[in-house]
Amino acid sequence: MLVVACIKQVPDTTQVQIDPVTNTLVREGIPFIVNPYDAHALEEALRLKDQFGFRVAAVSMGPPNAEATLKKALALGVDEAILLSDRVFGGADTLATSRVLSEAIERLNQQEQVGIVICGKQTIDGDTAQVGPGIATRLGYTQLTLVDRIDKLDPFQGRITVRRKLEGRHETVEAPLPVLLTVVREVNLPRYPTVPMRLESEAAAVQVWTNQELQLDQNGIGLKGSPTWVSRIFSPQREKGEIVGDGAADPAGAAHLLVDRLLSRDLLVV
Ligand SMILES: Cc1cc2nc3c(=O)[nH]c(=O)nc-3n(C[C@H](O)[C@H](O)[C@H](O)COP(=O)(O)OP(=O)(O)OC[C@H]3O[C@@H](n4cnc5c(N)ncnc54)[C@H](O)[C@@H]3O)c2cc1C
Repeated sequence: MLVVACIKQVPDTTQVQIDPVTNTLVREGIPFIVNPYDAHALEEALRLKDQFGFRVAAVSMGPPNAEATLKKALALGVDEAILLSDRVFGGADTLATSRVLSEAIERLNQQEQVGIVICGKQTIDGDTAQVGPGIATRLGYTQLTLVDRIDKLDPFQGRITVRRKLEGRHETVEAPLPVLLTVVREVNLPRYPTVPMRLESEAAAVQVWTNQELQLDQNGIGLKGSPTWVSRIFSPQREKGEIVGDGAADPAGAAHLLVDRLLSRDLLVV
């Protein structure tokens, strides 16, 4: 069985700036990282490999420099790393992104049966959490979102039991394979690559699939296949902070001042 981890390269959000003229991200000179949720998706796929001996493929759609992200996945122990990169994939919204990713997974499925696809809960740049469910819908896979634990996997019966982390409660769900999971941070603690693994992965090649391989209709991918447009992007204005009273010299007085201030702004109800 093949387990597929979908991983996206994202700008390090602590460094992100927005161009006030073009309303786009300033990408020059910004370090890129693996989307943090996807590091957990990859780790979960590798744990299934460790436990069951499955093969793992990491897939990413992005520009050529996203190869670095997939090299990291190879260093961690994935068996195959595929970069979906082509100018015609550029400018994709979540609909078009999930179309390209699901087609790639379908191609992998033709080589070896895909049982489980694992995505992060969401990205830290787009933040939509739509791509995982989009892939599952297109492939007709069961989708289990917000997974914080795989409780049981029976590859012979083709069934999986997971725990989902919901608002204020957990839910245990059993479902048939093939399945797409989206995972939250609590699911695991990602491993680090060892030095020998890093060195070994230097020689391992990332496969690059363009649209020549996928043969998707160009009207359904990239900018042309994206009904969503970001019309404006901006950082919210922050009000300047204020220090109320002198908490070190007169904590009780400062607390009174603070409560008065909060009451006057209707931010505190007594
Ligand atoms: C600054 C900015 C500008 C944008 N401009 C536009 C625009 O003009 N028009 C437009 O239509 N859209 C635009 N987008 C949206 C962009 O195309 C989305 O980021 C993209 O479709 C993926 O959605 P997401 O990041 O919300 O992923 P999510 O749905 O939050 O991701 C969930 C999971 O899906 C998987 N995944 C998502 N993307 C990939 C990928 N590329 N490769 C592998 N796995 C993946 C990962 O496992 C991830 O954890 C913009 C986004 C940003 C941040």
